[in-house]
Amino acid sequence: MKKELLSGNEAIARGAYEAGVRVASAYPGTPSTEILENIVRYPRIDASWAPNEKVALEVAIGASFGGARALVTMKHVGVNVAADPLFTLSYTGVRGGLVLVTADDPELHSSQNEQDNRHYARAAKLPMFEPADSQEALEMTRLAFEVSERFDTPVMLRTTTRISHSKSVVTVGEPLPELPATSIEKNPPKFVMLPGNARKRHLFVEERMRQLSEWAASQDFNRIEEGKGDIAIITSGVAYNYAREVFPDASILKLGMVHPLPKKLIAEFASRFERVVVIEELDPFIEEQVRAMGIDVCGKDRLPLCGELTPGRIRQALLDGEAPPVAKQAENLPPRPPNMCPGCPHRGVFLALNRLQAYVTGDIGCYTLGFMPPLSAMDTCICMGASIGNAAGLSRVLADEERKKVVAVIGDSTFLHTGVNGLMEMVYNGGAGTVVILDNRITAMTGRQDNPGSGFTLKGEDVPAVDLEQLCRSLGIEHVRVIDPYDLELTRKTLQEEMAREQVSVIITRRPCMLMKRQKVALRPPLHVDPDKCVGCRACLKLGCPAIQWDATAGEKGQARIDSLICVGCAVCEQMCKFEAFGVSHG
Ligand code: SF4
Ligand code: SF4
Repeated sequence: MKKELLSGNEAIARGAYEAGVRVASAYPGTPSTEILENIVRYPRIDASWAPNEKVALEVAIGASFGGARALVTMKHVGVNVAADPLFTLSYTGVRGGLVLVTADDPELHSSQNEQDNRHYARAAKLPMFEPADSQEALEMTRLAFEVSERFDTPVMLRTTTRISHSKSVVTVGEPLPELPATSIEKNPPKFVMLPGNARKRHLFVEERMRQLSEWAASQDFNRIEEGKGDIAIITSGVAYNYAREVFPDASILKLGMVHPLPKKLIAEFASRFERVVVIEELDPFIEEQVRAMGIDVCGKDRLPLCGELTPGRIRQALLDGEAPPVAKQAENLPPRPPNMCPGCPHRGVFLALNRLQAYVTGDIGCYTLGFMPPLSAMDTCICMGASIGNAAGLSRVLADEERKKVVAVIGDSTFLHTGVNGLMEMVYNGGAGTVVILDNRITAMTGRQDNPGSGFTLKGEDVPAVDLEQLCRSLGIEHVRVIDPYDLELTRKTLQEEMAREQVSVIITRRPCMLMKRQKVALRPPLHVDPDKCVGCRACLKLGCPAIQWDATAGEKGQARIDSLICVGCAVCEQMCKFEAFGVSHG
């Protein structure tokens, strides 16, 4: 048996390969991104980035209807985008197995909310597996495809950040020698969800879930680990590992499938103990269902509803008898706020927006950091693609002078994800406003993945890139301008002019991300500050570039210094200095 050290994401990719997946589609999103990035190691899988999660699922659905096994992956909030096809897919069922991975993010390491996507399985009436380590991630991925085909259902596989990114030793298996055959198979009563067909399929769905619940009760992934004493625990996923660490002698019912619950197994297990505790992250998803069965369990009366669990938090809540722990801000530590990279092309745009006192409707991407001081130029951020729709709504209710202060900012990838619809709305319904597309040629925040605007696929193949200017013009926008955001004066002036306009206008600030792969970004020598010229006015600090440091002991008022190891020579700071203190470093 071959063993490998794999993260949960790598194990899911391996499991999909072993299961004979033919198509894998995704939109990148932490903590799910590396699943697709690892699937490209298996050339027989047709893997690709989709413009958004809904399209990714629709691609997988098409592949499944053609008889192929298909994987679709996304972060938790991506399921909100894909929810429309998902709920109806539950009714149609599948042909080839279809598995949707939802990677949840308790503790909001890299997300705008902390939603618990186990609720989706219940709401859409789907089975959901929840692995507790990388070995289970691989095995449950394989099994999920079998379950999908056997019960005619899409299957959800839920991970959380700790499972997605933690590595453990995994025994890998052999892949299916051949991929299942594909073909067209007409079956409109199953696949055309008009009301008359859908009513019948709903009956099927209810019966399917009943059968799944019965079947799951006898499967190894839902197992009882016998212990000592009268305390018993019901748990799943990463919480199982913490529960086992804190209560090494307790009896544990470990659930591998969190929906539907194996009710008979739970009732039988609980009947043997005085006290049953449910240990689960985020919502009381299992606990409430077990209570609804008439079984007296506890859990969230002591365990926190917010954030990740840890062995320490479980111990504190259940053994030390303290109040439910909450995540505490560390005290007396130097602040280390997140910051845009040195040379980030977004920095100058937010500086200009700050100076123009714009009301900025923001979006999801690296540029959300424009919210942070000293740039402090973002006023809203809701979800992927929301900035333009938010600006459109504001433009309908504000008086002229205030309306002109509203600027929507959105990245190129986010614009293509769902932002373009907001721009359509703005034009179609007579909205007004300035839209800035921060075009850094890549999906930067999740690790520089390609998108339909970058000109490359997931596998690195050259493809036509979406022409953002033409796309905006085709929506009916007359005023489309493309500028270099490294030119601070041009950026300020363009924004000022477009904000004064009555009609919708789009400014595309085009400059590749400094961390761009394929060496597209020309390297420039770092700058340095001449101590004989720097008067300590602090103007350059307003950029918030992490390469600019402050030496409080130098000069009369302190002086700026540049860390030449991280400065990329973008020369934006040079434009801030009235004393010509910046020069190219040759040292
Ligand atoms: S803007 Fe120029 S003079 Fe002012 S602190 Fe920075 S380097 Fe020194
Ligand atoms: S040139 Fe100036 S703004 Fe650009 S990375 Fe270097 S220090 Fe930062």
